[in-house]
Amino acid sequence: MDTKYIFITGGVASSLGKGIISASLGKLLQARGYRITIQKFDPYINIDPGTLNPYEHGECYVTADGQETDLDLGHYERFTGIETTRDNSVTTGRIYLSVIESERRGDYLGKTIQVVPHITDEIKRRIQLLAARQTLDFVITEIGGTIGDIESQPFLEAIRQLRWELGPQRALNIHLTYVPYLAAAGELKTKPTQTSVKQLQGLGIQPEVLVLRSEHALGDELRRKVAHFCNVAESAVIQSQDLPSIYEVPVNMQRQGLDAICLSKMGISPGPTPELGPWRRFLLMRSQATEAIDIALVGKYDLQDAYKSIRESLAHACTYNNRLAHIHFVNSEHLTDDNVASLLGGMTRVVICPGFGQRGTEGKIIAAHYCRTHDIPTLGICLGMQMMVVEYARYVLGYADASSSEFSATTSHPVISMMEEQKAVTQMGGTMRLGSYECQLVEGTHAWQAYGRLPRVRERHRHRYEFNSQYLADFEQHGMLCAGINPDAGLVEIVEVPSCRWYVGTQFHPEYSSTVLHPHPLFMDFIGAETADE
Ligand code: GLN
Repeated sequence: MDTKYIFITGGVASSLGKGIISASLGKLLQARGYRITIQKFDPYINIDPGTLNPYEHGECYVTADGQETDLDLGHYERFTGIETTRDNSVTTGRIYLSVIESERRGDYLGKTIQVVPHITDEIKRRIQLLAARQTLDFVITEIGGTIGDIESQPFLEAIRQLRWELGPQRALNIHLTYVPYLAAAGELKTKPTQTSVKQLQGLGIQPEVLVLRSEHALGDELRRKVAHFCNVAESAVIQSQDLPSIYEVPVNMQRQGLDAICLSKMGISPGPTPELGPWRRFLLMRSQATEAIDIALVGKYDLQDAYKSIRESLAHACTYNNRLAHIHFVNSEHLTDDNVASLLGGMTRVVICPGFGQRGTEGKIIAAHYCRTHDIPTLGICLGMQMMVVEYARYVLGYADASSSEFSATTSHPVISMMEEQKAVTQMGGTMRLGSYECQLVEGTHAWQAYGRLPRVRERHRHRYEFNSQYLADFEQHGMLCAGINPDAGLVEIVEVPSCRWYVGTQFHPEYSSTVLHPHPLFMDFIGAETADE
């Protein structure tokens, strides 16, 4: 069948969960046996979010092929288990960059380059790019931002044109809006939705399906009213009420027939509804998990979304271990020798988080020291792993000023140093060691056990600095071992201290590849590890 395109736009407010709706629809279509992909088009000018502070947009997610992307791609992968690529994440910046490069090459000689048609044509080309490379039944495209944003206009114009060119059987628009509840009036209000749809209609886009986010259940009367005002069939007004977990959204969407409605509107008879067995089992396990465990995330960004994939990976692993994750954020900037015992002493697990720059790193070192010497199972990721190494150098190897050359040019012991290939790099954007690389596991180590004794694994990276191999023998003599190494470059990818119950640091980011149906083995082992007090 010809590839069909589903566009998901948002109105009224941001943060309504467009990414989760996109991921859920992808999941439901995948469960029906369709080949799908989900992509995100972001209207900001940055080429990618790699240079953005996490406070701006939350975590930067990294694809296996090394693209720094929006965190919604993490949801797409966690829900569907299908890997995304560099072409699943496109920004206005990338669109303009390619048009401007073409202009400089002379591709448009003699022509005036304009938003319409040159930018919109490039957007349309990019929307269809993935299906040009592989056989896909559905391409779901989430448009970032909210209707009414100046930056969104070219994207909306592009999807309007595509819908016209492809026809109603091959292109469909879903609009997600918000229905606020006014406590004083005791009423749910549909006016913002009506206004948002009117705005879309003014741009020539008629949504076929509306998804209404609200904190309260919407009655039939209200749905009828919205359908009536917005030229949408009543059955195509779906409600997305707040749920205890994002993983319940696909089931909720299926119950209301979101996928079946999309299929019918595109001329496909939906057929039997898939059972979503393994997914439902996951939800059941999640609801039945009894043992709560306290997990500290030690990092400097006190924003939930900054460590999105880590939180989700912990939740996956806890569910499969019949545990309930109670995650406590511990700000490493405020962590001191005096308060570390009160902040981390009661924790069953500690994750020392990734990051950039010096701020908060001394706190991470204090956390590593406390966890190692008190034998609290600890996972250090990227900068977290690097700080475990610095701590070990200072306290066990006796190098009091050991540090990373990321923040100390003068240290006499740069146990973490810049990778050789990075030294010539002058541009900041997209130039780190990014994406998936092979890691050879060292037999007999904790990591090797955790990975089911595999000889080699592939994991995703995002860093400029690395374990300084000149110190490897020194570390190993003193009890911190290399448990994984990159076979091509010889870079140390995993360290661990076998005298502790579970003390492992990874230069890579295991959190990027944990999914609902395939929790990551390292997180599984970390959460499942027996501790003396259990
Ligand atoms: N800042 C460190 C580096 O560049 C760690 C990066 C990270 O934690 N993602 O190597």
